[in-house]
Amino acid sequence: MTAGTHSAEEITLARLPSGVALTTTVHTYRGVDDGPTLYVQAAQHGREVNGAEVLRRFHDRLPLDSLSGTVLAVPVANPLTFDLVSYITPEEFDSVNPNMNRVWPGDPSGSLHQRMAARLWEIISQADAIVDLHTGSPDMLPHVVYREGDDRSRDLAEAFGTDLLLSEEAGEDAPEEWHRRGFAGKLRVAAAEEDIPSITPELAHNKQILEDVVEDGVDGLCSVLRALEMLPGDVPDRDRTVARNHLGQVTASQSGLFRPEPGLELGQFVPEGTAIGTVYDPASYEPRQEAAADRDGVLYALTREATVIAGDQLASIALVRED
Ligand SMILES: [Zn+2]
Repeated sequence: MTAGTHSAEEITLARLPSGVALTTTVHTYRGVDDGPTLYVQAAQHGREVNGAEVLRRFHDRLPLDSLSGTVLAVPVANPLTFDLVSYITPEEFDSVNPNMNRVWPGDPSGSLHQRMAARLWEIISQADAIVDLHTGSPDMLPHVVYREGDDRSRDLAEAFGTDLLLSEEAGEDAPEEWHRRGFAGKLRVAAAEEDIPSITPELAHNKQILEDVVEDGVDGLCSVLRALEMLPGDVPDRDRTVARNHLGQVTASQSGLFRPEPGLELGQFVPEGTAIGTVYDPASYEPRQEAAADRDGVLYALTREATVIAGDQLASIALVRED
């Protein structure tokens, strides 16, 4: 019996103005039998570190000798934002496209992020399925986002197994704001355009390694491999809520200190009008905004960074589609 193999290759994503090469590592796991190719990456927003830790543990746990097909894994898709522990890249590096997840499939002669994406896309475009690991801001309920109406992507999202699945409208179906915010350039969306099923797990919040969430991430990834018949075994059936991501988040209409309503819990159903919290003037103590849910739905994110400016997101509420 032949054995599965692992290899790691350092590739150059782009060059910085000084000539320094921006590199990252691509892990390749080849199974004993033929099968699909799964591409998985983490940390294209560098402060979103739970995914990188998921891939380290996945590396230790993947049973190579029962793998069919190939897994390509990039734990640090964006080394620049990783080193800055940031979400976006400062103007000095990319004054055109600060957010890497708005430029896919990239452009080899474009801005820095476009070049980085284009280099990774050479690898990604060989894949039969894609998992792009992200995290949100505190507090966020772990969930998986997939394209509304895309059954193959939905199957992967269900296999990953978070309690909440969010479908997102894309392309012609999407609202104007979706286009204005450049969401068509997300990796998941660009891949779906190429007919590659793809999901975006959002593994709780950034900057911290959260033990439970990382374990769920490793289990979720192995479960995706089972759904693709790359590993033996069945995908467990789970109870879940399917909701639709909507762009009309509860936002701050005033700047100040935001105190979330005590007792609110992520994952709870909130009817329209439910109090979310209060934005205060920290100097005069005057309440400036009583924030409330703008519709019925599942509360899946609530900001804990209390100093807010007008326009900041305070909470995210998803419309429930199926229970
Ligand atoms: Zn992200």
